[in-house]
Amino acid sequence: METESGISSRKWRFKGNEISMRSSALTVRSALNMLMGNLDPNDQRPSIQLGHGDPSAFPSFRTAPEAEIAICDALLSAEYNGYSPNIGRLHARKAVAEHLSHDLPYKLSPDDVFLTSGCTHAIEIILDVLACPSANILLPKPCYPYYEARAIASNIQFRYFDLLPERDWEVDLGAVEALADQTTVAMIITNPGNPCGNVYKFEHLKKVAETARKLGILVISDEVYYHLTFGSNPFVPMGVFGSIAPVITLGSISKRWVVPGWRLGWIVTNDPNNLLKKYGIVDSIIGFLNVSAEPTSFIQGALTQIFEKTKVDFFTKINDLLRENADFCFSKIKEIPGMTCPSKPEGALFAMVRLNLSVLENIEDDVDFCLKLAKEESVIVLPGATLGVKNWIRVTFAIEPSSLHDGINRIKVFCENHSKK
Ligand SMILES: *Cc1c(COP(=O)(O)O)cnc(C)c1O
Repeated sequence: METESGISSRKWRFKGNEISMRSSALTVRSALNMLMGNLDPNDQRPSIQLGHGDPSAFPSFRTAPEAEIAICDALLSAEYNGYSPNIGRLHARKAVAEHLSHDLPYKLSPDDVFLTSGCTHAIEIILDVLACPSANILLPKPCYPYYEARAIASNIQFRYFDLLPERDWEVDLGAVEALADQTTVAMIITNPGNPCGNVYKFEHLKKVAETARKLGILVISDEVYYHLTFGSNPFVPMGVFGSIAPVITLGSISKRWVVPGWRLGWIVTNDPNNLLKKYGIVDSIIGFLNVSAEPTSFIQGALTQIFEKTKVDFFTKINDLLRENADFCFSKIKEIPGMTCPSKPEGALFAMVRLNLSVLENIEDDVDFCLKLAKEESVIVLPGATLGVKNWIRVTFAIEPSSLHDGINRIKVFCENHSKK
Protein backbone atom coordinates (compact mmCIF):
# COMPACT_ATOMS: atom_id res chain seq x y z
CA MET A 1 0.00 0.00 0.00
CA GLU A 2 1.16 3.48 -0.84
CA THR A 3 1.47 5.93 2.06
CA GLU A 4 -0.75 8.98 2.29
CA SER A 5 2.08 11.33 1.29
CA GLY A 6 2.87 8.95 -1.57
CA ILE A 7 -0.69 9.37 -2.85
CA SER A 8 -0.60 13.15 -2.72
CA SER A 9 2.81 13.44 -4.33
CA ARG A 10 1.86 11.06 -7.17
CA LYS A 11 1.07 12.76 -10.50
CA TRP A 12 -2.67 12.41 -11.28
CA ARG A 13 -4.08 12.87 -14.76
CA PHE A 14 -7.33 14.76 -14.07
CA LYS A 15 -7.84 18.50 -13.90
CA GLY A 16 -10.81 20.92 -13.84
CA ASN A 17 -11.87 22.59 -17.07
CA GLU A 18 -10.67 26.18 -16.76
CA ILE A 19 -13.27 27.52 -19.16
CA SER A 20 -15.64 27.50 -16.18
CA MET A 21 -13.42 30.04 -14.38
CA ARG A 22 -13.44 32.48 -17.31
CA SER A 23 -17.14 32.01 -17.71
CA SER A 24 -18.30 32.26 -14.10
CA ALA A 25 -16.15 35.33 -13.38
CA LEU A 26 -18.49 37.25 -15.71
CA THR A 27 -21.77 36.71 -13.88
CA VAL A 28 -23.75 39.25 -11.85
CA ARG A 29 -23.40 37.05 -8.78
CA SER A 30 -19.63 37.07 -8.95
CA ALA A 31 -19.57 40.90 -9.22
CA LEU A 32 -22.01 41.28 -6.31
CA ASN A 33 -20.01 38.87 -4.14
CA MET A 34 -16.91 40.94 -4.75
CA LEU A 35 -18.75 44.11 -3.67
CA MET A 36 -20.29 42.44 -0.61
CA GLY A 37 -16.77 41.61 0.48
CA ASN A 38 -16.05 45.36 0.56
CA LEU A 39 -18.87 46.30 2.99
CA ASP A 40 -17.66 47.94 6.19
CA PRO A 41 -18.45 45.59 9.13
CA ASN A 42 -18.37 48.60 11.50
CA ASP A 43 -21.22 50.40 9.70
CA GLN A 44 -24.22 50.02 12.04
CA ARG A 45 -26.72 50.71 9.25
CA PRO A 46 -28.22 47.84 7.26
CA SER A 47 -26.67 47.42 3.82
CA ILE A 48 -28.94 48.28 0.90
CA GLN A 49 -28.99 45.95 -2.08
CA LEU A 50 -29.57 47.78 -5.34
CA GLY A 51 -27.58 45.33 -7.42
CA HIS A 52 -29.72 42.19 -7.56
CA GLY A 53 -32.55 41.06 -9.84
CA ASP A 54 -34.54 39.05 -7.30
CA PRO A 55 -37.00 41.02 -5.17
CA SER A 56 -38.82 37.91 -3.90
CA ALA A 57 -37.61 38.39 -0.31
CA PHE A 58 -39.33 41.80 0.06
CA PRO A 59 -42.86 41.70 1.53
CA SER A 60 -44.26 44.01 -1.20
CA PHE A 61 -43.07 41.57 -3.87
CA ARG A 62 -44.52 38.37 -2.45
CA THR A 63 -46.02 36.24 -5.20
CA ALA A 64 -49.76 35.84 -5.81
CA PRO A 65 -51.53 33.56 -3.28
CA GLU A 66 -53.20 31.74 -6.21
CA ALA A 67 -49.76 30.70 -7.46
CA GLU A 68 -48.78 29.30 -4.06
CA ILE A 69 -52.06 27.39 -3.83
CA ALA A 70 -51.56 26.00 -7.35
CA ILE A 71 -48.23 24.49 -6.27
CA CYS A 72 -49.80 22.92 -3.15
CA ASP A 73 -52.67 21.48 -5.19
CA ALA A 74 -50.28 19.99 -7.75
CA LEU A 75 -48.10 18.49 -5.03
CA LEU A 76 -51.01 16.99 -3.06
CA SER A 77 -52.57 15.46 -6.17
CA ALA A 78 -49.75 12.86 -6.18
CA GLU A 79 -49.78 13.08 -9.98
CA TYR A 80 -46.40 14.77 -10.17
CA ASN A 81 -44.00 12.52 -8.34
CA GLY A 82 -42.49 10.97 -11.45
CA TYR A 83 -40.18 12.11 -14.24
CA SER A 84 -41.59 14.34 -16.96
CA PRO A 85 -40.67 14.16 -20.66
CA ASN A 86 -37.47 16.14 -21.31
CA ILE A 87 -39.31 18.79 -23.34
CA GLY A 88 -41.93 19.16 -20.57
CA ARG A 89 -45.40 17.70 -19.96
CA LEU A 90 -47.90 18.17 -22.78
CA HIS A 91 -50.57 19.95 -20.68
CA ALA A 92 -47.96 22.39 -19.33
CA ARG A 93 -46.64 23.12 -22.84
CA LYS A 94 -50.23 23.64 -23.96
CA ALA A 95 -50.77 26.06 -21.05
CA VAL A 96 -47.73 28.14 -22.12
CA ALA A 97 -48.86 28.08 -25.79
CA GLU A 98 -52.31 29.41 -24.86
CA HIS A 99 -50.94 31.92 -22.38
CA LEU A 100 -48.52 33.47 -24.91
CA SER A 101 -50.97 33.30 -27.83
CA HIS A 102 -53.11 36.04 -26.19
CA ASP A 103 -50.52 38.57 -27.40
CA LEU A 104 -49.95 37.15 -30.90
CA PRO A 105 -51.75 37.47 -34.25
CA TYR A 106 -51.65 33.65 -34.66
CA LYS A 107 -51.97 30.67 -32.32
CA LEU A 108 -48.97 28.85 -30.90
CA SER A 109 -49.21 25.07 -30.64
CA PRO A 110 -47.77 22.99 -27.77
CA ASP A 111 -45.21 21.80 -30.35
CA ASP A 112 -43.80 25.33 -30.40
CA VAL A 113 -43.11 25.20 -26.65
CA PHE A 114 -40.19 23.55 -24.80
CA LEU A 115 -40.04 23.80 -21.02
CA THR A 116 -36.79 24.58 -19.23
CA SER A 117 -35.49 25.14 -15.69
CA GLY A 118 -35.98 28.89 -15.83
CA CYS A 119 -34.91 31.27 -18.57
CA THR A 120 -31.28 30.62 -17.63
CA HIS A 121 -31.60 27.04 -18.84
CA ALA A 122 -33.40 28.29 -21.98
CA ILE A 123 -30.39 30.52 -22.78
CA GLU A 124 -28.01 27.63 -22.17
CA ILE A 125 -29.92 25.30 -24.49
CA ILE A 126 -30.35 27.81 -27.30
CA LEU A 127 -26.67 28.78 -27.30
CA ASP A 128 -25.73 25.09 -27.43
CA VAL A 129 -28.11 24.68 -30.38
CA LEU A 130 -26.50 27.56 -32.28
CA ALA A 131 -22.89 26.66 -31.44
CA CYS A 132 -21.92 25.05 -34.75
CA PRO A 133 -18.22 25.34 -35.62
CA SER A 134 -17.31 28.95 -36.61
CA ALA A 135 -20.85 30.26 -35.99
CA ASN A 136 -21.22 33.59 -34.19
CA ILE A 137 -24.08 35.47 -32.52
CA LEU A 138 -24.65 39.19 -32.03
CA LEU A 139 -25.19 40.43 -28.47
CA PRO A 140 -26.39 43.85 -27.32
CA LYS A 141 -24.13 46.15 -25.36
CA PRO A 142 -24.90 46.70 -22.51
CA CYS A 143 -25.93 43.08 -22.06
CA TYR A 144 -27.30 40.78 -19.39
CA PRO A 145 -23.92 39.16 -18.61
CA TYR A 146 -25.12 35.57 -18.57
CA TYR A 147 -25.14 35.61 -22.42
CA GLU A 148 -21.40 36.17 -22.67
CA ALA A 149 -20.69 33.79 -19.79
CA ARG A 150 -22.77 31.08 -21.41
CA ALA A 151 -21.43 31.75 -24.92
CA ILE A 152 -17.92 31.10 -23.59
CA ALA A 153 -19.07 27.92 -21.84
CA SER A 154 -20.92 26.76 -24.99
CA ASN A 155 -17.94 27.67 -27.17
CA ILE A 156 -19.83 29.95 -29.55
CA GLN A 157 -18.30 33.21 -30.76
CA PHE A 158 -20.02 36.53 -30.14
CA ARG A 159 -19.84 40.14 -31.28
CA TYR A 160 -21.44 43.22 -29.74
CA PHE A 161 -23.73 45.83 -31.26
CA ASP A 162 -24.58 49.01 -29.36
CA LEU A 163 -27.88 49.94 -27.79
CA LEU A 164 -28.41 53.70 -28.04
CA PRO A 165 -29.05 55.43 -24.69
CA GLU A 166 -30.24 58.67 -26.31
CA ARG A 167 -32.84 56.71 -28.28
CA ASP A 168 -34.32 54.83 -25.33
CA TRP A 169 -31.80 52.03 -25.80
CA GLU A 170 -32.96 51.04 -29.27
CA VAL A 171 -30.77 48.66 -31.24
CA ASP A 172 -28.21 50.33 -33.51
CA LEU A 173 -29.41 48.45 -36.58
CA GLY A 174 -26.68 49.92 -38.77
CA ALA A 175 -24.12 48.40 -36.42
CA VAL A 176 -25.89 45.03 -36.61
CA GLU A 177 -25.64 45.07 -40.41
CA ALA A 178 -21.99 46.10 -40.27
CA LEU A 179 -21.11 43.34 -37.77
CA ALA A 180 -22.88 40.43 -39.41
CA ASP A 181 -21.24 38.23 -42.03
CA GLN A 182 -21.64 34.77 -43.56
CA THR A 183 -20.95 33.09 -40.23
CA THR A 184 -23.48 35.07 -38.17
CA VAL A 185 -26.53 33.01 -37.20
CA ALA A 186 -28.57 35.01 -34.68
CA MET A 187 -28.99 38.30 -32.83
CA ILE A 188 -30.23 38.67 -29.28
CA ILE A 189 -32.45 41.33 -27.77
CA THR A 190 -33.99 41.62 -24.30
CA ASN A 191 -37.37 43.30 -24.15
CA PRO A 192 -38.36 44.62 -21.63
CA GLY A 193 -34.67 45.12 -21.10
CA ASN A 194 -32.16 44.11 -18.51
CA PRO A 195 -30.05 46.17 -17.78
CA CYS A 196 -31.60 49.16 -19.60
CA GLY A 197 -35.29 49.14 -18.58
CA ASN A 198 -36.24 49.65 -22.25
CA VAL A 199 -39.61 48.67 -23.71
CA TYR A 200 -39.35 48.63 -27.50
CA LYS A 201 -42.03 50.08 -29.74
CA PHE A 202 -43.85 47.97 -32.34
CA GLU A 203 -42.13 49.85 -35.19
CA HIS A 204 -38.65 49.28 -33.80
CA LEU A 205 -39.23 45.55 -33.31
CA LYS A 206 -40.50 45.34 -36.87
CA LYS A 207 -37.25 46.91 -38.09
CA VAL A 208 -35.27 44.40 -36.02
CA ALA A 209 -37.15 41.59 -37.79
CA GLU A 210 -36.56 43.16 -41.22
CA THR A 211 -32.84 43.50 -40.51
CA ALA A 212 -32.70 39.84 -39.44
CA ARG A 213 -34.48 38.83 -42.63
CA LYS A 214 -32.04 40.81 -44.76
CA LEU A 215 -29.09 39.13 -43.00
CA GLY A 216 -30.63 35.64 -43.00
CA ILE A 217 -30.35 35.29 -39.22
CA LEU A 218 -32.85 34.48 -36.51
CA VAL A 219 -33.90 36.70 -33.62
CA ILE A 220 -33.64 35.43 -30.05
CA SER A 221 -35.90 37.58 -27.89
CA ASP A 222 -35.38 37.32 -24.14
CA GLU A 223 -38.80 38.27 -22.76
CA VAL A 224 -38.29 37.13 -19.19
CA TYR A 225 -39.74 40.54 -18.09
CA TYR A 226 -42.81 40.24 -20.32
CA HIS A 227 -45.63 42.54 -19.19
CA LEU A 228 -43.50 44.10 -16.45
CA THR A 229 -44.06 47.50 -18.07
CA PHE A 230 -45.13 50.78 -16.49
CA GLY A 231 -44.45 53.53 -19.05
CA SER A 232 -46.10 54.65 -22.26
CA ASN A 233 -45.06 51.69 -24.45
CA PRO A 234 -47.03 48.46 -24.06
CA PHE A 235 -45.19 45.13 -24.17
CA VAL A 236 -45.10 43.78 -27.75
CA PRO A 237 -43.74 40.24 -28.11
CA MET A 238 -41.14 39.80 -30.86
CA GLY A 239 -43.13 36.77 -31.98
CA VAL A 240 -45.59 39.18 -33.62
CA PHE A 241 -42.96 39.48 -36.39
CA GLY A 242 -42.26 35.76 -36.70
CA SER A 243 -43.45 35.75 -40.31
CA ILE A 244 -40.83 38.36 -41.28
CA ALA A 245 -37.93 36.40 -39.74
CA PRO A 246 -37.97 33.36 -37.46
CA VAL A 247 -38.10 34.32 -33.79
CA ILE A 248 -37.26 32.27 -30.71
CA THR A 249 -38.71 33.65 -27.52
CA LEU A 250 -37.15 32.86 -24.15
CA GLY A 251 -39.14 33.41 -20.97
CA SER A 252 -40.13 32.18 -17.54
CA ILE A 253 -42.49 32.79 -14.65
CA SER A 254 -39.50 33.95 -12.53
CA LYS A 255 -39.89 37.71 -12.86
CA ARG A 256 -43.58 38.28 -13.57
CA TRP A 257 -44.65 36.10 -10.63
CA VAL A 258 -41.53 36.99 -8.60
CA VAL A 259 -40.62 33.32 -8.07
CA PRO A 260 -37.17 32.87 -9.61
CA GLY A 261 -36.51 29.94 -7.30
CA TRP A 262 -39.32 27.90 -8.85
CA ARG A 263 -37.24 27.36 -12.01
CA LEU A 264 -39.86 27.19 -14.74
CA GLY A 265 -39.05 28.71 -18.11
CA TRP A 266 -39.55 28.14 -21.81
CA ILE A 267 -38.15 28.25 -25.31
CA VAL A 268 -40.87 29.12 -27.84
CA THR A 269 -40.58 29.05 -31.64
CA ASN A 270 -42.52 31.84 -33.36
CA ASP A 271 -42.15 30.72 -36.92
CA PRO A 272 -45.28 30.47 -39.08
CA ASN A 273 -43.06 29.63 -42.09
CA ASN A 274 -41.55 26.55 -40.40
CA LEU A 275 -37.97 27.56 -41.15
CA LEU A 276 -36.68 26.49 -37.75
CA LYS A 277 -37.85 22.93 -38.41
CA LYS A 278 -36.45 22.96 -41.91
CA TYR A 279 -33.02 24.13 -40.74
CA GLY A 280 -32.77 21.59 -37.91
CA ILE A 281 -33.13 24.07 -35.04
CA VAL A 282 -36.18 22.34 -33.55
CA ASP A 283 -34.55 18.89 -33.65
CA SER A 284 -31.44 20.32 -32.05
CA ILE A 285 -33.47 21.95 -29.23
CA ILE A 286 -35.10 18.58 -28.54
CA GLY A 287 -31.73 16.86 -28.79
CA PHE A 288 -30.05 19.10 -26.23
CA LEU A 289 -33.07 18.91 -23.90
CA ASN A 290 -32.83 15.12 -24.12
CA VAL A 291 -29.37 15.31 -22.58
CA SER A 292 -30.39 17.80 -19.88
CA ALA A 293 -32.67 17.70 -16.82
CA GLU A 294 -36.32 18.77 -17.10
CA PRO A 295 -37.97 21.32 -14.78
CA THR A 296 -39.54 20.04 -11.54
CA SER A 297 -42.74 18.12 -12.21
CA PHE A 298 -45.11 19.77 -9.70
CA ILE A 299 -44.23 23.25 -10.97
CA GLN A 300 -45.23 22.02 -14.42
CA GLY A 301 -48.36 20.54 -12.83
CA ALA A 302 -49.30 23.91 -11.31
CA LEU A 303 -48.79 25.94 -14.46
CA THR A 304 -52.34 25.91 -15.87
CA GLN A 305 -53.73 27.07 -12.53
CA ILE A 306 -51.03 29.71 -12.10
CA PHE A 307 -51.90 31.22 -15.49
CA GLU A 308 -55.67 30.95 -15.10
CA LYS A 309 -56.15 31.84 -11.43
CA THR A 310 -53.71 34.68 -10.77
CA LYS A 311 -55.78 37.84 -10.42
CA VAL A 312 -55.10 40.91 -12.56
CA ASP A 313 -54.79 42.88 -9.28
CA PHE A 314 -51.53 41.12 -8.51
CA PHE A 315 -49.88 42.26 -11.76
CA THR A 316 -51.32 45.77 -11.42
CA LYS A 317 -49.98 46.07 -7.88
CA ILE A 318 -46.47 45.00 -8.89
CA ASN A 319 -46.37 47.29 -11.93
CA ASP A 320 -47.69 50.25 -9.88
CA LEU A 321 -44.99 49.66 -7.30
CA LEU A 322 -42.29 49.43 -9.98
CA ARG A 323 -43.57 52.63 -11.62
CA GLU A 324 -43.46 54.56 -8.34
CA ASN A 325 -39.98 53.26 -7.57
CA ALA A 326 -38.70 53.97 -11.10
CA ASP A 327 -40.12 57.52 -10.97
CA PHE A 328 -38.51 58.12 -7.59
CA CYS A 329 -35.16 56.82 -8.81
CA PHE A 330 -35.25 58.81 -12.03
CA SER A 331 -36.18 62.13 -10.42
CA LYS A 332 -33.73 61.78 -7.50
CA ILE A 333 -30.80 60.79 -9.71
CA LYS A 334 -31.23 64.09 -11.60
CA GLU A 335 -30.26 65.90 -8.37
CA ILE A 336 -27.10 63.86 -7.78
CA PRO A 337 -23.79 65.38 -8.93
CA GLY A 338 -21.91 63.12 -11.37
CA MET A 339 -24.96 61.06 -12.38
CA THR A 340 -27.34 61.13 -15.33
CA CYS A 341 -30.02 58.69 -16.40
CA PRO A 342 -30.50 59.36 -20.14
CA SER A 343 -33.57 57.20 -20.55
CA LYS A 344 -36.33 56.74 -18.01
CA PRO A 345 -36.95 53.03 -17.36
CA GLU A 346 -40.31 51.85 -18.69
CA GLY A 347 -40.04 48.14 -17.88
CA ALA A 348 -38.14 45.45 -15.95
CA LEU A 349 -36.41 46.30 -12.65
CA PHE A 350 -33.42 48.48 -13.52
CA ALA A 351 -32.13 51.93 -14.42
CA MET A 352 -28.85 52.49 -16.24
CA VAL A 353 -27.01 55.50 -14.84
CA ARG A 354 -24.07 57.22 -16.51
CA LEU A 355 -21.24 58.42 -14.27
CA ASN A 356 -19.52 61.71 -15.00
CA LEU A 357 -16.21 61.12 -13.26
CA SER A 358 -14.83 64.54 -14.23
CA VAL A 359 -16.90 66.12 -11.44
CA LEU A 360 -16.09 63.43 -8.86
CA GLU A 361 -12.92 63.23 -6.85
CA ASN A 362 -11.00 60.10 -6.01
CA ILE A 363 -13.04 57.72 -8.17
CA GLU A 364 -11.15 55.88 -10.89
CA ASP A 365 -13.94 54.16 -12.78
CA ASP A 366 -17.30 52.40 -12.31
CA VAL A 367 -15.81 49.47 -10.41
CA ASP A 368 -13.96 51.81 -8.06
CA PHE A 369 -17.21 53.79 -7.61
CA CYS A 370 -19.10 50.62 -6.62
CA LEU A 371 -16.36 49.39 -4.28
CA LYS A 372 -16.15 52.74 -2.46
CA LEU A 373 -19.94 53.11 -2.33
CA ALA A 374 -20.12 49.68 -0.66
CA LYS A 375 -17.40 50.59 1.84
CA GLU A 376 -18.51 54.15 2.69
CA GLU A 377 -22.31 53.94 2.46
CA SER A 378 -23.09 50.18 2.55
CA VAL A 379 -24.97 50.38 -0.75
CA ILE A 380 -24.51 47.78 -3.48
CA VAL A 381 -25.03 48.67 -7.16
CA LEU A 382 -23.80 46.79 -10.22
CA PRO A 383 -20.78 48.24 -12.10
CA GLY A 384 -21.09 48.77 -15.85
CA ALA A 385 -17.95 46.68 -16.34
CA THR A 386 -20.09 43.60 -15.63
CA LEU A 387 -22.48 44.67 -18.42
CA GLY A 388 -19.79 45.53 -20.97
CA VAL A 389 -19.94 49.33 -20.56
CA LYS A 390 -17.42 51.50 -18.74
CA ASN A 391 -18.43 54.23 -16.30
CA TRP A 392 -22.08 53.30 -16.01
CA ILE A 393 -23.86 51.59 -13.13
CA ARG A 394 -27.09 49.58 -12.99
CA VAL A 395 -29.46 50.46 -10.15
CA THR A 396 -32.21 47.98 -9.22
CA PHE A 397 -35.36 49.72 -8.01
CA ALA A 398 -37.27 46.51 -7.19
CA ILE A 399 -37.01 46.71 -3.39
CA GLU A 400 -39.17 48.05 -0.56
CA PRO A 401 -39.79 51.77 -1.24
CA SER A 402 -38.43 52.83 2.18
CA SER A 403 -35.11 51.04 1.52
CA LEU A 404 -34.95 52.49 -1.98
CA HIS A 405 -35.35 56.02 -0.57
CA ASP A 406 -32.64 55.34 1.99
CA GLY A 407 -30.34 53.81 -0.67
CA ILE A 408 -30.69 56.65 -3.19
CA ASN A 409 -30.12 59.20 -0.42
CA ARG A 410 -26.94 57.43 0.58
CA ILE A 411 -25.76 57.47 -3.05
CA LYS A 412 -26.44 61.20 -3.08
CA VAL A 413 -24.41 61.72 0.10
CA PHE A 414 -21.60 59.61 -1.40
CA CYS A 415 -21.47 61.68 -4.60
CA GLU A 416 -21.66 64.95 -2.66
CA ASN A 417 -18.78 63.81 -0.45
CA HIS A 418 -16.78 62.99 -3.58
CA SER A 419 -17.68 66.13 -5.54
CA LYS A 420 -14.77 68.28 -6.67
CA LYS A 421 -14.72 71.42 -4.57
C1 LIG B 1 -33.30 37.03 -14.68
C2 LIG B 1 -33.01 36.91 -16.12
C3 LIG B 1 -32.90 35.67 -16.75
C4 LIG B 1 -32.96 34.37 -15.96
O1 LIG B 1 -34.26 34.02 -15.66
P1 LIG B 1 -34.59 32.75 -14.75
O2 LIG B 1 -35.96 32.36 -15.17
O3 LIG B 1 -34.55 33.21 -13.32
O4 LIG B 1 -33.58 31.70 -15.02
C5 LIG B 1 -32.70 35.63 -18.12
N1 LIG B 1 -32.58 36.75 -18.84
C6 LIG B 1 -32.64 37.98 -18.28
C7 LIG B 1 -32.49 39.19 -19.14
C8 LIG B 1 -32.84 38.10 -16.89
O5 LIG B 1 -32.85 39.31 -16.33
